[in-house]
Amino acid sequence: RFYHTGYCTHPECMVERGGSLRKAAFPAMTAHITHQGGNLLFDTGYAPRFFEACRRFPEKFYALTTPVTLSQPTIRERLGDAAHDINQIFLSHLHADHIAGLKDFPDAEIILSRTAYDFVYRTDKPESLTNRIIEVKQGFLRELLPQDLPQRARFIEDMPEVRLDEAFYPFEQGYRISADLIAVALPGHAAGQYGLIAGEFFLIADAVWRFATISHN
Ligand SMILES: [Zn+2]
Repeated sequence: RFYHTGYCTHPECMVERGGSLRKAAFPAMTAHITHQGGNLLFDTGYAPRFFEACRRFPEKFYALTTPVTLSQPTIRERLGDAAHDINQIFLSHLHADHIAGLKDFPDAEIILSRTAYDFVYRTDKPESLTNRIIEVKQGFLRELLPQDLPQRARFIEDMPEVRLDEAFYPFEQGYRISADLIAVALPGHAAGQYGLIAGEFFLIADAVWRFATISHN
């Protein structure tokens, strides 16, 4: 089941070579997957907490450069009682529009890549102004991560490696998250981004924004 959690606006040329300066809407989506290992949420999308995390500078630049409109009701509200059944959250990457709802699911295991995790915790960077500016420029808002992420994290790279069927070429290798879910590396957009093959779907987060960009290579 797919959910829209909101969208931001940004010039079209940011995602398509030759695109115009006209503002386009970029939706942030979430997928709720019921599988053999339980109930998994693929990313959490936007949530009201995004605005709290952007109330001061330099984080405020994030909200100013990509103005955000939230979907109502929120994903947490639409899930209702089913939110308690979510026992896994798969984070494709750590950009704010993918993790803003994370604190709404305090008991779920968090599946993410070690590369993305190390990006956050690599040197126990102090929360200096310089580091915060660097992080905002990279689309990351530290306040959105729960304090107990280190205890709840499960790394994709630690799971069994699988070779993918030829039909997935040029993707050749992935990691088995459960009997029916496979994570596949999608480098290029953000540190340690992974997609998820789930049945007939290949969830790719921000690896591609428009079909035209695939056909234009
Ligand atoms: Zn992103």
